[in-house]
Amino acid sequence: MTTLYQFNRRIVLTEVDFPDFLVRGAAIFGTEAVVIWDTLTHPDDLQPLLPLLNDRRRIVVYSHADWDHAWGTAAVAGAGLSVVGHRLCRRRFDADVPTTLEQRRIEEPGRWDAVRLLPPDEVFDEQMVLDLGGLSLELRALPGHTPDSIVGLIPEHRLLLMGDTVETPLPCIPPGCRLNRWQSELERWLADPRVTTVVPAHGPWGGKEIIRRTLDYLEDLGAGRPPMNLGDLTPFYHQTHADNLQHCHPAISANTDNQ
Ligand SMILES: [Zn+2]
Repeated sequence: MTTLYQFNRRIVLTEVDFPDFLVRGAAIFGTEAVVIWDTLTHPDDLQPLLPLLNDRRRIVVYSHADWDHAWGTAAVAGAGLSVVGHRLCRRRFDADVPTTLEQRRIEEPGRWDAVRLLPPDEVFDEQMVLDLGGLSLELRALPGHTPDSIVGLIPEHRLLLMGDTVETPLPCIPPGCRLNRWQSELERWLADPRVTTVVPAHGPWGGKEIIRRTLDYLEDLGAGRPPMNLGDLTPFYHQTHADNLQHCHPAISANTDNQ
């Protein structure tokens, strides 16, 4: 079930709440074009948004190619649709994205029949600016959670869409992840005076404290320190944290496991 949250006259947040997680995207309305930032898990997720789209030019932007961010695009497909993502996001549509969908279709017959994979047809490596008419969306690479992850700043509204690059209580770190670029990009955004509101895809949205918290967590893990202030973790985040430790310090985790 999708909830639309009217952040302001130009920006609507789209949220789907599942029993064990929430995923959030956005729609950004310029005078010339509308951006759908992430199409969520299924075309059904975007149905409540369709009446708001009218005849503006539609641009889908993927924060990255994970299934819960890119499987709903068929709902907004049609002539003139542009799809934008990082160059590595495009590449994943020839690799793990269709494989994951095939697996899910086997596991849950019928559930994913309406999903149609639409890869980016406009890609970038470091930065791209979209002019929507009256406002803009500045896209910038932020690899770490996945190599194809990006964030999007709407400077006119001081809002930064961050996908899965930040998450409360903690982000998901893949095996073999190099944390340096992830951390330096988060530091850069933390210092950017144009950012007031931070909107991740999972967990609560709010201010720059969300960036600070993820950065602290990454710094602690990178330095081999136990992270501070994790609080009571749900089973999902407890497992994610254990996986993160394993992915950052496989040797240390293996020794601990053997004790
Ligand atoms: Zn996600």
